[in-house]
Amino acid sequence: MKVTAIITCAGKGTRAGFDKNKLLQKTDGITYLEKTANVFLGCELIDNLVITSSANDLEEISKITANFNKKTTVILGGDTRTESIKNALNACNDDIVLIHDGARPFVTEEIIIDCINSVKKYGSGIACTPLADTLAVEQNGEIVCTERENRYLVQTPQGFYLKDIVFAYSQIKEGEAFTDDSGVYSKYIKPAKISLGSPDNKKLTYASDFNKTQLVGTGFDLHRLVEDRKLILGGIEIPHTKGLLGHSDADVLTHAIMDALLSALSLGDIGKHFKDTDPQWKDISSIYLLKKVLEMIQNEGYKVVNISAVIMAQKPKLSTFTDKISTNLAQVIHIEPKRMGITCTTLEGVGLVGREEAIATQAYCLLEKI
Ligand code: MG
Repeated sequence: MKVTAIITCAGKGTRAGFDKNKLLQKTDGITYLEKTANVFLGCELIDNLVITSSANDLEEISKITANFNKKTTVILGGDTRTESIKNALNACNDDIVLIHDGARPFVTEEIIIDCINSVKKYGSGIACTPLADTLAVEQNGEIVCTERENRYLVQTPQGFYLKDIVFAYSQIKEGEAFTDDSGVYSKYIKPAKISLGSPDNKKLTYASDFNKTQLVGTGFDLHRLVEDRKLILGGIEIPHTKGLLGHSDADVLTHAIMDALLSALSLGDIGKHFKDTDPQWKDISSIYLLKKVLEMIQNEGYKVVNISAVIMAQKPKLSTFTDKISTNLAQVIHIEPKRMGITCTTLEGVGLVGREEAIATQAYCLLEKI
């Protein structure tokens, strides 16, 4: 017996507060739609996929599903869930159909197989999980009664014989509203059968349900102190008898920050992007280069959460400049000054830095998926 899985993806994601379909947001490099579909694509008992889409997303979803290893049909959803499912059922030809909410990416193969087996044995299979909390029935703000025994949360997949669910949907009268397919089946065919669900098979609804991938990065830099050069740190000129030697303005703090940002996303280092033999970067402001790095970060879909850096310098004394430096960098990076932490230290006269021959900086950053 062949099985088609319908995955609903025709929503807009407005409740999640995204400006586009929440299932087209990415997690670990793939969309949530792919994460959900991959479970069905990996299950031997599934033969075909039908995915519902809004007109807006049709092109993007068709592109995504072009690489799927099972025959996948993308169809236009309707204005309501009922209409979308009707359209999807029209595109099915197999004996059994599983209807699954695309916003449940944590479905497992075990749940899918149990649903199919339930259809074969009882005619339907509805993934359900027992209530963990007690349910209160309310009237006028008062609890009339509480229940937990024999109470379940209804999830998806929900499986049926195609001919049964098509018939049930054909019986829906105007004005009748169903929140799921088990309701339609139970009303027009017979009471639907409970199959395996899981508390982990949760539905992603609100922005807080979605993963915010965070990545840390680290960068280090050192430049020699020489005569007749300006000392620039974080884009601020610091009065001193010497300055840092380099191809650009040699802003050692900004360089370490740029390397931290690039490293967090494995984009190489500043030497790769701004070669120190390239005349276009001669004496260039490192703040200009930082803006270019920030564009790369944004293009990867990340924003900066915070930066923490330590400047190692024997002289000059930098503590009176750190606020000014933080404020300047925070403005460029578009974070609060409190998220741009800078500390300074001498190296107790030890080594290159201690002998006032160089200034070094270590920087860390935290990035978050936008
Ligand atoms: Mg450097």
